[in-house]
Formats: sequence, C-alpha cells, structure tokens
Amino acid sequence: MIRNPAHLEALVADIRSFVREQWHPIEEQVARDDVVPTAMVDTLRSKGYFGWSIPEAYGGLGLTTEELVLCAMELSQASVALRARVGTNTGIGSEALVADGTEEQKQRWLPRMAAGELTGCLALTEPEAGSEATNIQTTARRDGDHYVLNGTKCFITNAPVADVFTVIARTEPDTRGSKGLSAFLVERSPGLTTGTPYRKMGQMGSPVSDVTFDNCRVHASQLIGGQEGVGFQTVMKVLNKQRLHLAALCTGPAIRMLDLALEHTSQRKQFGQALADFQLVQAMIADSRTDIFAARSMILEAARARDRGEDVALSASMCKYFASEMCGRVADRAVQMFGGSRYVADFSPIERYYRDVRLFRLYEGTSQIHQLNIAKLVLRGEGK
Ligand SMILES: Cc1cc2nc3c(=O)[nH]c(=O)nc-3n(C[C@H](O)[C@H](O)[C@H](O)COP(=O)(O)OP(=O)(O)OC[C@H]3O[C@@H](n4cnc5c(N)ncnc54)[C@H](O)[C@@H]3O)c2cc1C
Repeated sequence: MIRNPAHLEALVADIRSFVREQWHPIEEQVARDDVVPTAMVDTLRSKGYFGWSIPEAYGGLGLTTEELVLCAMELSQASVALRARVGTNTGIGSEALVADGTEEQKQRWLPRMAAGELTGCLALTEPEAGSEATNIQTTARRDGDHYVLNGTKCFITNAPVADVFTVIARTEPDTRGSKGLSAFLVERSPGLTTGTPYRKMGQMGSPVSDVTFDNCRVHASQLIGGQEGVGFQTVMKVLNKQRLHLAALCTGPAIRMLDLALEHTSQRKQFGQALADFQLVQAMIADSRTDIFAARSMILEAARARDRGEDVALSASMCKYFASEMCGRVADRAVQMFGGSRYVADFSPIERYYRDVRLFRLYEGTSQIHQLNIAKLVLRGEGK
C-alpha cells in the first residue's frame, strides 16, 4: 500500500541521489577500514533513515510494507555496509517492540531508535541454536522485580555498536523447543558484553559479534509485551516481515551489479566488438534482468498482501529464498561478464558484492530451511 505517492517518490529520489552522490564514493574506504564513518551515521540520522518502519506516533516514518521494500531496493544499490548500519533499526532490532511491545515500552525506546540515537539488534542465534532456532539455552530466571540472564548469543549483526538488544531467552527451564521462550529488550548494562567483531568473508563495515550474558539483571518492565512464554511467536512476527525486507535488500545489489555489467560489456571490446554484442553475453544479461524482475514482482505482491492484513508466512519465505538465491546468481554472472579484471581488483564493487551477498543465503533462515518451510506450508494447504 502506498499512502502518498508524491511523498514516496520524493523519499525514493532522495535515497537514490544519496546512495550515488554520498555513499558510492566512500564504499572502498568503508570496506578497507571496516567501519562506517561517524559523519555518515550522523547523515543517516538527520535523514531519518533509522526510523523508516517505526510508526509515526513514535517518531518514525511509519512506512507500509510496500513502501519499505521499495525504499530498501533503492538503499541496497550500495555496498551492504550502508543498509546494514540502519537495517537493524528498520528491521529486526525494532520490530519486536513495534509488533508486541506495551505502550510504555514503545514510548520508552522507539522514538530514540527512530532518531538513530539508539542502535538496536536481534540476539536470537546461539552456538547450539542456528537453523534449529528454538534450541535456545540462554536462560532468564525471575528474581523479584528482575530477570537474571545467562548465556551466549553468536553472529549478532550490529552487536558491537548496539545500545539495545532484543534477546530471546528461556524463562521456563524445563521446557524445550518454542515453548517457554520470552523476548526482552535489554540495554547495554553490567553483565552484558559484546565480543570482538568477527573477521568475515564480506560485508566489511557491518560489525557482527557474540553477546554474552553473565548474571545480567534486566528489570521485569523490559519483558516485551509483559508476557512470558510468547517470545518465539514475537520472533516469528519479526521474521515474517523481515523476510520481505531482506528479499528487497537482496534485489538492490542485483540491480546495481547488472547496471555495472551493462556499462562494462557495452564499453569493452574483444574480437573487434563490444562484449554486449555477443549472444552468450546477452544470455547472461537476459537471465539477470529476468531474475531481478521476478524477485521484484513477487516481493511487491507479498508486501501488498501483508499491508492488506493477509498471512504472508508462505510468500515471505518464498521471497527470501528466491531473492537471496537470485542475487547469488546475478553476482556470479556479473563476475563472469567482467572477466579477470574484477576478480583481481581489490575492493571493486563486483568483487566485493560477490563476497557480501553470499551471506544472504545463510542468515534469516538458510535456503534449505526456507525450502523446508515452503514445502511444509504448501503440503498443509496454507497460503495461495
Ligand atoms: C554475518 C552474520 C550475521 C548474522 N546476524 C544475525 C543476527 O543479527 N541475529 C541473529 O540472531 N542471528 C544472526 N546470524 C545467524 C544466522 O541467522 C545463522 O547463521 C543461520 O540461521 C544458520 O545457522 P548456523 O550458522 O548455525 O548454521 P547450521 O544451522 O549449522 O546449518 C549449516 C547447514 O546445514 C543446513 N541445515 C541445517 N538444518 C537443516 C535441516 N533440517 N535440513 C536441511 N539442511 C539443514 C543449513 O541449511 C546449512 O546449509 C548471522 C549470521 C552471520 C554469519
């Protein structure tokens, strides 16, 4: 649903010029230094980019799902580090509060997250709870007005720079699986430590680390929704929306890689002809554009369905699966179309994207987990 086409058009135009004029020139530096400069974070704050999906009542832009995915496809035509810096606040870091927080909790944290004053993150994964996300070992034991958290989370995007952590922990020690889990909004406080950022295959400038809870005391008012035992339902609400968001974030890089490949294959000549004149190169162009069109179309349809209040569990899973695989295919073809020049060039956008986008098929549900989920829902006769 697009509420005000003129406003959306202005926002998309602003993102497009910002990405091209202010972000593309510093991408190489961000990748080399492995950090987004503070001045750039301030610019993102002043532009309101941290608050896209936070409701207007709490200081955000309150974008609908359709508006969010259209903006995400623009923002992600940049190196992944850019959108990852704001992406937890516009996605997994704020959505549990938006979906299930009490009014007091929303008032307390969302305005500062929308302003980018607080950076959020989602701490779900653990060493023994990856694809089997319900196998959570982190515990939250009630102690008077507080809960005491113990355990370790791993692979948490933005943890090293985060101020607030949406944490899933087990409040009922004798339970297993999705039962007995609760969601907390934990501020950086004694007993919570974040590890050294990992050295990764790609996505330099997007810090990811462990989060450890060692008798970390969290006030009961920080139990999201004020209700124990429904943490996994909260996470699934977050992920169903996030899968559409992430699918859109997989589409932007594919659009940019194809644009770069079109420019290159039109200019470079071999055998006295532009590469783009060769039909085998044209096949790669055609397949890439078709892939992008298919992803964009399905994401928009699913986003509109979500805005109409429909259940998008199946379509969101299909979008994430297809768009992340699609982006990997386009990255591979882009490297092929550039030939040796972008295999050897340090920090060229294509070489960097090839490494950066590999993660899309792994996080927020691996491709295999989405295949299983899609098949399960189809066999149950759910969705259209
Ligand atoms: C850089 C990075 C950032 C991340 N950010 C976050 C974050 O912000 N917050 C967060 O909570 N988590 C985050 N994650 C964690 C991410 O979601 C997990 O890595 C992912 O869910 C996969 O879990 P795993 O790594 O333990 O792999 P595993 O579960 O060990 O899977 C390994 C392989 O086995 C396959 N497999 C597993 N089970 C099955 C099955 N039943 N059938 C078929 N195949 C199967 C998988 O598909 C995969 O190919 C991040 C991870 C990375 C690497």
